Amino acid sequence: MIKKGSKLYSILTGSCPKCHQESMYETKNPYVLSDVLKINEECSHCHTKYRIEPSFFYGSMYVSYAIGIAFGVAAFVISYLFLESSLITAFFAIIGTLVVFAPIIMRLSRNVWINIFMHYDENLVKKKTE
Ligand SMILES: [Zn+2]
Repeated sequence: MIKKGSKLYSILTGSCPKCHQESMYETKNPYVLSDVLKINEECSHCHTKYRIEPSFFYGSMYVSYAIGIAFGVAAFVISYLFLESSLITAFFAIIGTLVVFAPIIMRLSRNVWINIFMHYDENLVKKKTE
């Protein structure tokens, strides 16, 4: 179990990067495709505004390339090396993986991106719970 307070917690759960108290997303389930990129304006706990600037999340595209490649490599290794599929099958396994995991990849990349710029702040949590 990953504890609140680590960046990994915010990245994997999509929670507020500053207080980790609630999800940044309007809909938690990434497979509700119409809502996959809908991020709340601000955290209702610590009032952090998630968009530092209007086009803030465009930068997360760079992260999504990296995460996409990681997923692709994983799919290739599993199908080609472990399941000993043909190269063509491995190719389709990569495509299939990227399609199936696209909503997760998109969110993970945004979570990583915002966690580069914002950091967990214990005081924000204490203020609310004391
Ligand atoms: Zn917060």
